[in-house]
Amino acid sequence: MTGTTASPIWHPFTQHALQPEMTPIVSGEGAYLHARDGRRIIDAIASWWVVTHGHCHPHIVRAIQAQAERLDQVIFAGHTHEPAEQVAKELLALAPPSLAHVFFSDSGATSVEVALKMALGYFRNIGAPRTRIVVMQHSYHGDTIGAMSVGARGVFNAAYKPLLFDVAVVPFPAPGREQASLDALAAICQRDRPAAFIVEPLVLGAGGMLMYPPAVLREMHRICRASGVLFIADEVMTGWGRTGTLFACEQADIAPDIACCAKGLTGGAMPLAVTLCSAAIFEAHRSTDRARTFFHSSSYTANPIACAAAAANLELWRRPETRSRIAAVAESQARCLARFRYDERFSDIRRCGTITALDLHADEPGYLAEVGPKLHAFFRDSDVLLRPLGHTIYVMPPYCVTPDDLDAVYAAIDEAVDQVL
Ligand SMILES: *Cc1c(COP(=O)(O)O)cnc(C)c1O
Repeated sequence: MTGTTASPIWHPFTQHALQPEMTPIVSGEGAYLHARDGRRIIDAIASWWVVTHGHCHPHIVRAIQAQAERLDQVIFAGHTHEPAEQVAKELLALAPPSLAHVFFSDSGATSVEVALKMALGYFRNIGAPRTRIVVMQHSYHGDTIGAMSVGARGVFNAAYKPLLFDVAVVPFPAPGREQASLDALAAICQRDRPAAFIVEPLVLGAGGMLMYPPAVLREMHRICRASGVLFIADEVMTGWGRTGTLFACEQADIAPDIACCAKGLTGGAMPLAVTLCSAAIFEAHRSTDRARTFFHSSSYTANPIACAAAAANLELWRRPETRSRIAAVAESQARCLARFRYDERFSDIRRCGTITALDLHADEPGYLAEVGPKLHAFFRDSDVLLRPLGHTIYVMPPYCVTPDDLDAVYAAIDEAVDQVL
């Protein structure tokens, strides 16, 4: 029980030869994690983008405790329960009006697999099969085979390439290149008759916190609509206030056919995901013909304890102070970022809602690969949990973070970059 090389555990996205030591964490509270050796670590990436209101939020913890004593788990085929019904109803009340049904699963990647299966099932069941999927360059949708197939190809999935299916790729709508991206999407929609376009609205997360404006998202939605291509919004990272609004799609005022949610759905306390879909997609599967059934399930579909956590999160979202907190964090983030505005060590300083990102300038791109581990080490030693994506440093804190906490995070970034460059 030392959390060192003696452990048999194989950690995610971890090269054990380079990082043999894991930090043992014993508790979490608000924006902080407490390490076994007594250190207090500020969680500046919300523990991989999931913790929205803060660690161990009392309202969510109480809901989990109460549900665990009442009903822990029940098969969700042929059965239902109040926490799931409540979550489904409340989600639909908050989601764009195009969405009418809720399918539960347990991770973001699975919610994406479900979305892709819904899209293909829809076209098959209406007797007009379409199978091709269109994706955005640099996107990330999870690490299962289907989710990797619709995500960016690279070192992360090179070994599995033979198993990945082929997709059509639209270039990222970088500043000044928006029209080229829109034209490419229009051309693919005309030429390939694809089933669906899957996209991370406004911010591409793992692809490097790349941001693009709501107007582009809105136009992409219009192009898909015009060609009968289903529009899948992957709100796994952008949902739950990250971009400033509950869902990023709100800012483009669009109504997706399918939307994926996970991460902050339970406030970050339990694994749970949903795939929301339009009435048309559900109706295409509803039939006395069993072959049209939506054939998807996982053992823990709509686990009652996870659903109770999600219901508690939705209750927090009904409190006006949740939205004002998010606005305050967005403002503090903007203020902190301003200190780097004329700083030549950085380029492409950007923010969307509560997310900020900045790229490290370096003359040799190869050098950047080496600064990554050094930055990681510096942040670890400074008790700041940050995990740069290549040369991109980003901050995505829980909403309970204080301006002083954020000042400390940005001071660490400032110092870290001085040390490694
Ligand atoms: C994290 C993420 C996923 C995958 O979610 P998991 O719960 O890690 O499987 C999918 N899509 C986006 C946009 C994500 O950021």
